[in-house]
Amino acid sequence: MNRPYNFSAGPAAIPEEVLQTAAAEMLDWHGSGMSVMEMSHRGKEFIAICEQAETDLRELLAIPGEFKVLFMQGGGVAENAIVPLNLSRAGTVDFVLTGSWSQKSRKEALKYAAEVHVAASAEASGFTTVPDPASWQLSRGASYVHICSNETIHGVEFHELPDLKSLGSDAPLVVDFSSHVASRTVDWSRVGLAFGGAQKNLGPAGVTLVVVREDLIGHALPICPSAFDYKNVAEADSRYNTPPTWGIYVAGLTFQWLKRQREGQLAGIAAVEARNTAKARLLYDFIDASGFYLNKVAPHCRSRMNVPFLLADDALNEAFLAGARERGLLQLKGHKSVGGMRASIYNAMPTAGVQALVDYMAAFERERA
Ligand code: PMP
Repeated sequence: MNRPYNFSAGPAAIPEEVLQTAAAEMLDWHGSGMSVMEMSHRGKEFIAICEQAETDLRELLAIPGEFKVLFMQGGGVAENAIVPLNLSRAGTVDFVLTGSWSQKSRKEALKYAAEVHVAASAEASGFTTVPDPASWQLSRGASYVHICSNETIHGVEFHELPDLKSLGSDAPLVVDFSSHVASRTVDWSRVGLAFGGAQKNLGPAGVTLVVVREDLIGHALPICPSAFDYKNVAEADSRYNTPPTWGIYVAGLTFQWLKRQREGQLAGIAAVEARNTAKARLLYDFIDASGFYLNKVAPHCRSRMNVPFLLADDALNEAFLAGARERGLLQLKGHKSVGGMRASIYNAMPTAGVQALVDYMAAFERERA
């Protein structure tokens, strides 16, 4: 089937093979006589699905044994509260502001943490860069340091996670990796906790992935809701209450799809990362070479997942979007806070989709410039 290319920032494209498997298994999962949506979350069928999903994810992302993998609900926005409710015991939490999502996280933390400190901010640049970690003003004895490692709206990505130890801080690093989880390898030695909603790179909306180092569990504030206390969720293997069963199942199919990916000698996440890097280069190189399209983000921190770009004349935006839709290039409108366009090119976007976009952009420029 020839489906259009979907550039949505999320909920986003899901690999077609995953959708086909989910469709084929919709009425009867593996001879159980039930759809996954109809199964008890405490039955052996769903427990097997959930355990397999965790095993596959651990293998894919090389998650060390001292980390717990939790499948929760509430998305990244709920984690903005759940993280300080679980981790802010010592009082001060540090934030590095690199765009809308880290700003939003900081605002929410103000409700729960005794003190919220901005260690660095790229606001003066219009959120077009990541402040150099050597310049961060980290608090002594902070409960954690929060970063958003890929800013979905501003298109800014940490190409490398900061090493807080080398910056003189013992605080755990909390990473919102919602919009580039599973797009590249993770250096877990630098991470205390990472969270992200599934709806960009992992599957359908409704599941939130939390990967948390064991020593950070069990310190929730007394007001933390029981269903959001990492200790309860970890002890019950993500089944403290009814988890988003369908979402976990489709995420599990996506993990299997990711494991099957190959690029030359590379397999799994390494293959996907190489492909993502090449896809992003194709699009940024085209934008930079054109005088008609513009991306303002500093090249060393451009997102490989979310590529915002402006047209030389915004009066052409509607015509650009209409022409794109006609060619089967969907959901390219930029976020209203930055305007212009945004091409989200997550794992499920094939290189051919990015090439089709570049071909269209070139044709539009020839016609309208
Ligand atoms: N963080 C980032 C980086 C995001 O991109 C998003 C969603 N676009 C969120 C957090 C919020 O996720 P949710 O809508 O699932 O709560």
